[in-house]
Amino acid sequence: MELTEYHYLPDGLLERSASSLYRQLDGPTLIHLPGIRQQPLFISVLQHGNEDTGWEAVRRLLKNHSSFEPLPRSISLLIGNVEAARFNKRRLDTQLDFNRCWPQKNTSENQSDIHNIFRQVYDIMQAKNPFAAIDIHNNTGLNPHYAAINQLDNRCFRLAALFSNTVVHFTIPEGVLSNAFSNFCPAVTLECGLAGNIHGTDHTLAYLESCLHLAHLDDIPLPGGEMGLFHMVATVKVAANLDIGFGGSDHELSLIDDIDHMNFRELEANTLLGYTHDKTTLPFITTDMHGKDVSGKFFSFTGGEIRTTRPIMPSMLTMDQKVIHQDCLCYLMERMDPQHSRAGHDEPLPELTGLEV
Ligand SMILES: [Zn+2]
Repeated sequence: MELTEYHYLPDGLLERSASSLYRQLDGPTLIHLPGIRQQPLFISVLQHGNEDTGWEAVRRLLKNHSSFEPLPRSISLLIGNVEAARFNKRRLDTQLDFNRCWPQKNTSENQSDIHNIFRQVYDIMQAKNPFAAIDIHNNTGLNPHYAAINQLDNRCFRLAALFSNTVVHFTIPEGVLSNAFSNFCPAVTLECGLAGNIHGTDHTLAYLESCLHLAHLDDIPLPGGEMGLFHMVATVKVAANLDIGFGGSDHELSLIDDIDHMNFRELEANTLLGYTHDKTTLPFITTDMHGKDVSGKFFSFTGGEIRTTRPIMPSMLTMDQKVIHQDCLCYLMERMDPQHSRAGHDEPLPELTGLEV
């Protein structure tokens, strides 16, 4: 597998859906398009083959600009996993997860074809000194759109807050595009809700259009209230074999109905999450990013009621019992102060904050 690079838009490409790109492209493809401002906006789509909102938005963006006017700013577009997109899969069984293969510190070269290709893209783009980098994804379940960043930096905050006022800071997993590109430009990972949803495409298109028209990103703090900055602090699992239900209180663990509506909602302390029959053993196993049990820090279990003990924002909450047992019930995020979180301040940042991207 090799990188294909174009300095023009291949004929007919914009007519193709994600699943038919393979008819025209051999694999990862980097396309440079000239615009009035030369520093390019780097846009990455389809690193995960079944997450097509980015491609759908880019098709419309480029069609809007093709006929009547030059692009306001150059674009470098990376189309990632064409093979997986053909089969509407995140990745093929024979492939690595593309968004874990970007250059990072402390890794040797030549780990795989895709590592080598992404090293090439990284070097090409670093030399072009991009204006910003935007990597577009979808996720599953009931989640609002949000932007995720890796650097606590005013320009990253501004790039992210332009998409959503919920911004998540993360440092793991490693090998993520936005983390690598943060070494040389403001970079953001967009999570645009469910794939195939027209609202996600509309929102992403409007965002790309705004970024394309921006003259610069100021390195000054955002006014207060324009961004809620969060980071992952813990994972919540449920004790194995526990019988889980929703609504009522009949099960060993009865979670409230529609608990997935709490995703990305900041819950106040003392919010009720459910009921447990066993009043002595905690049904939740809550661990921090270092694997330490922190259940008591986040939840109380008085009289069989499970309640939060401090303001938290859950994500990935699901009502699928199988997923809860196999994976986890949810992740917990806490609000950070953008200014107090910055380098040089007293309160140290957690070393690891994770996110599924
Ligand atoms: Zn993804």
